[in-house]
Amino acid sequence: MEKSTEKHFVPLTLEQAFDVAVVGGGLAGTMAAVAAAREGKKVVLIEKYGYLGGMATAGLVYPFMKHTENGSGKPANAGLYFQLLKEIYEIGGSDGAESRHYKEEFMKVVLDRMTKRYGVQVLFHSKLCSVERAERRIQSITVSTVSGKIQIRAGRFVDATGNADLTAFAGFAYEQGREEDGLCQPMTLCFRLGNVDWSRFDHAAANKLYREFQAAGKIQNPRENILIFHHPFDNVMHMNTTRAIGIDPTNVFDVSKAEMLLREQMLEMYRFMKENIPGLENCELISSAAESGIRESRRIVGLVKVTADDLIHTRKFEDSIARGTYAIDIHNPSGTGTYLYKMPENDYYTIPYRALVPQDADNLIVAGRCICTTHEALAAVRIMPITTCMGEAAGIAAAMATDADCTMAQVDVQALREKIVSYGGLV
Ligand SMILES: Cc1cc2nc3c(=O)[nH]c(=O)nc-3n(C[C@H](O)[C@H](O)[C@H](O)COP(=O)(O)OP(=O)(O)OC[C@H]3O[C@@H](n4cnc5c(N)ncnc54)[C@H](O)[C@@H]3O)c2cc1C
Repeated sequence: MEKSTEKHFVPLTLEQAFDVAVVGGGLAGTMAAVAAAREGKKVVLIEKYGYLGGMATAGLVYPFMKHTENGSGKPANAGLYFQLLKEIYEIGGSDGAESRHYKEEFMKVVLDRMTKRYGVQVLFHSKLCSVERAERRIQSITVSTVSGKIQIRAGRFVDATGNADLTAFAGFAYEQGREEDGLCQPMTLCFRLGNVDWSRFDHAAANKLYREFQAAGKIQNPRENILIFHHPFDNVMHMNTTRAIGIDPTNVFDVSKAEMLLREQMLEMYRFMKENIPGLENCELISSAAESGIRESRRIVGLVKVTADDLIHTRKFEDSIARGTYAIDIHNPSGTGTYLYKMPENDYYTIPYRALVPQDADNLIVAGRCICTTHEALAAVRIMPITTCMGEAAGIAAAMATDADCTMAQVDVQALREKIVSYGGLV
C-alpha cells in the first residue's frame, strides 16, 4: 500500500525577538540592517523579492547618480556606499572601485554577502502586511510568507520600504506629493534593448524624430525626450524613458493600471527605435524591471522637514548624518518636461538625522526615499548614493537606541555622527 504524503498546513511561529527589524531590502534597508548588525545587534531584514537592492536590482534603475561635489569632484557619499562599490568591482561587476556603473546581478551577490558577513537574518519573499502598535511604539509586525503569516517582534524598527508602508500601516502621519495638488513624480518602467550598434546611434537626431512622432500623435508617451544610458554590457541600451502621470503610487488600482500602461509605452518605444533609428534596426527588447519605479510617494512627518532652500543654500545641519550634491530633478508630475536645478560648485548639502525620525513614533526610524522632505527636496535626496548613506546612519542609530534603551529621538546624535565617520562615512 502506498504511503500517504498528505499534510495540513501549520503556520510558522517565531518565538525569538530581534533588536532591530528592517522592512525593505533596497539599498537603504540593506545598509541599515548591515550597519545595525555590525554594531552587534540581532537584526532581521524583510524583503518582498528574492534578492536585495530594491530599485537598483528589481527596478533595473541604473546607474548610481552623482556622488561627488560639482567642481572639486570630492566625494559626498562614502562609508558602506563605497564598500558596496568596491565589492561589486572586486567580483567583476563594474569597471572601477568607485565606479557608478554596475551590473545588477553582481550587486545582488554582494548585498547577500554583506548581510551574511554580519549575521543579518534575511527573510525573502516576505511582505509586510500589518503592524501592531501601542501608542507611540510598534510592538510587532506581521509578514506574509510561503510559511504563512509570521509575527515578528523587535525593539526598534526601520522603515526602508520606499513607500513608507511600515509608517503608514502603523497609523503614523505622512504626506504625499506636491503641496498644491498632491501629485507625485511620474512612475517609470525601466527596460533594456540589446543588439544596439552604438557607433551609428545619434541621440540628438533620435530625439528630434521622437518629438515629430509625438506631435503627429504617433507616440503616446508624454516624456519630452528619450532618456537612455549606456549599459556596461556592450551593445545594451538602458532606457529610463516611459512615464505614467497622475498615478497615486500608494493606490493598488492606480499602480496596476500604470504597470500595464508603461508596458505599452515600452513596446511603443522599442518599435519606434527599431523601425526608425539608425543603429537600432536589429535591436531586441531583452528585459524590463520586475516592477515600475516609483520616484515619489509617502514621506513621513518627521522632526524636521528638508526643503529645497536647505539644499540650494547647502545648509549644514548640526545633526547631519549624510551629504548630497545631486540636483533637484523633478520629472513633471502632470505631463511633459523635467525641471533640473544644479547644486553650487565645491559644496554639498546635508541630511539631518531628525528628518529620519517620525514625530509621532518612539521606536521607528525611516531611511531612503520616504524621509521627511518637501516634494522638491525629495527630488534631489532620493538618489541611491544618498539613500544608501541614510540607511547606514539609520542602522547605527537603531543599534545605539537599543544600547541606550532610548527613543529614536533621544539618540545622542553627535555620538552617532562620530560613529558614522569612524566607519569612513561623511556627515
Ligand atoms: C525610474 C527611476 C529612475 C531612477 N534613476 C536613478 C538613477 O539613475 N540613479 C540613482 O541614483 N537613483 C535613481 N532613482 C532613485 C532611486 O532609485 C530610488 O529613489 C532609491 O533606490 C530608493 O531607495 P530605497 O532603498 O529608499 O527604496 P527602494 O529601492 O524602492 O527599496 C525598497 C525595498 O523595500 C521592498 N518593499 C517595499 N514594500 C515592502 C513591503 N510592504 N514588504 C516587504 N518589502 C517591501 C522593495 O521590494 C524594495 O526592495 C530612480 C528612481 C526611479 C523610480
